[in-house]
Amino acid sequence: MQFSRLSFVSGFFVILLFLSGAAFAADVIVLKSGRTITGKILTRSDKTLEVEMTVGKSTATITIQVSDIDRIEKGENKDVEFRKRWSALKSNDLPGHEALLKWCEDNSLSIQAAQVRKKIDSVKLVLLKEKYPDLWCRPCEAGGKLSCQGCEGKGVKVDPCQRCAGSGEIGCRACSRKKQGSLDCRRCGGAGVYERFDPSKGRKVKTRCSTCSGKGKIECPTCSGKQKSKCEDCKGEGGKKVSCGTCDGQRHSYCKLCEGSGVKGNPEKKALPKPGKPKGNTEEDGKSDEKPKKKPVIKKNPFG
Ligand SMILES: [Zn+2]
Ligand SMILES: [Zn+2]
Ligand SMILES: [Zn+2]
Ligand SMILES: [Zn+2]
Ligand SMILES: [Zn+2]
Repeated sequence: MQFSRLSFVSGFFVILLFLSGAAFAADVIVLKSGRTITGKILTRSDKTLEVEMTVGKSTATITIQVSDIDRIEKGENKDVEFRKRWSALKSNDLPGHEALLKWCEDNSLSIQAAQVRKKIDSVKLVLLKEKYPDLWCRPCEAGGKLSCQGCEGKGVKVDPCQRCAGSGEIGCRACSRKKQGSLDCRRCGGAGVYERFDPSKGRKVKTRCSTCSGKGKIECPTCSGKQKSKCEDCKGEGGKKVSCGTCDGQRHSYCKLCEGSGVKGNPEKKALPKPGKPKGNTEEDGKSDEKPKKKPVIKKNPFG
């Protein structure tokens, strides 16, 4: 008798009972009585909640009165709920998106929150352009920010390696002084032939060197004939990555034309956001071409 196994759900109305072995990420519903129910929320209305719960190999769907619920803890269905709320919003509904952001934060849905934040930024931009159809700042697309020219918006710059001048390669130590990445064959001393005593003839005979096929040269085994090897100072990376000094690693600079407000003349007198790490001149607009203090110098000419 299957219902007897489900006696603990008495008090709830069992709508459906069927066999299913499927596993799912469960929601935990905490009732005001202190009891918890683990299951998958199927439907939700103002008054009731339908929850599918697994008991052994059986699955039962129960209905819970919303008034009995204390709280619902995170499960997979939060994302379903999020998508419902997200698609219900009108594209330009700023307060609606802000409310959804708060809901995401309250439910610790960080990925979804980031999605909403991005949307809020674009909605704000659209609204700003609508409000100031002639005044919105074209160079920064009303965003108030420009991609940092000091680092091409990457936030980091490569401080070139002094040893290899940023190429990541230095001349091969083993062969760079020789031509074409080859070394003299050790077996024949570069002659391509060597002398060997032939007992049948009772004298020394010249033999073609098989190691170098008679060429007298072998390909440099260190660099496989490339004549270059990885620079050890920078491990072949050409230099150290350093945070961009122009934008303080922020990847952007504030648009001077609109004082970072996105609207020419900054009619709403928006304050310029403070840079993340205060460092010297905050008026830095990123347009000045920052020159490296020292020119990279090759200490040794690898081919010298
Ligand atoms: Zn070499
Ligand atoms: Zn040889
Ligand atoms: Zn290097
Ligand atoms: Zn930068
Ligand atoms: Zn601007």
